[in-house]
Amino acid sequence: MRESSFPQEVVLSENEDFSQYAEGLSKVRRRRWCLWGVILIYIPLIWTTLTITQSDRATAKVFAVWFIFACIASCISAFVKCPRCGNLFHVNGLIPMYFRRCLHCGLPLNADKKKE
Ligand SMILES: [Zn+2]
Repeated sequence: MRESSFPQEVVLSENEDFSQYAEGLSKVRRRRWCLWGVILIYIPLIWTTLTITQSDRATAKVFAVWFIFACIASCISAFVKCPRCGNLFHVNGLIPMYFRRCLHCGLPLNADKKKE
């Protein structure tokens, strides 16, 4: 049995009240920002360390610390639950995929912000 890793058909009822997911979705967004923040800090961090210390060894130590933070950030952002279906928002199978909607029920990351 082989399932697609992405929902074929996204079921979003127009009558569904997405504001009930606001708290859960903001948690998902915060954790995503935490991961992007750690990734974005990489180049300035390594460049600053090299400039200040002029040492490959010190830079390697800073890289090791950054790498640990990157692992932690990717774990906490991967293991966040979807407020609608209760499954892991970014994980379906073994590999986390950081799409902007739930990999199980298709709930968009900004569903609670849509006002039409
Ligand atoms: Zn879901």
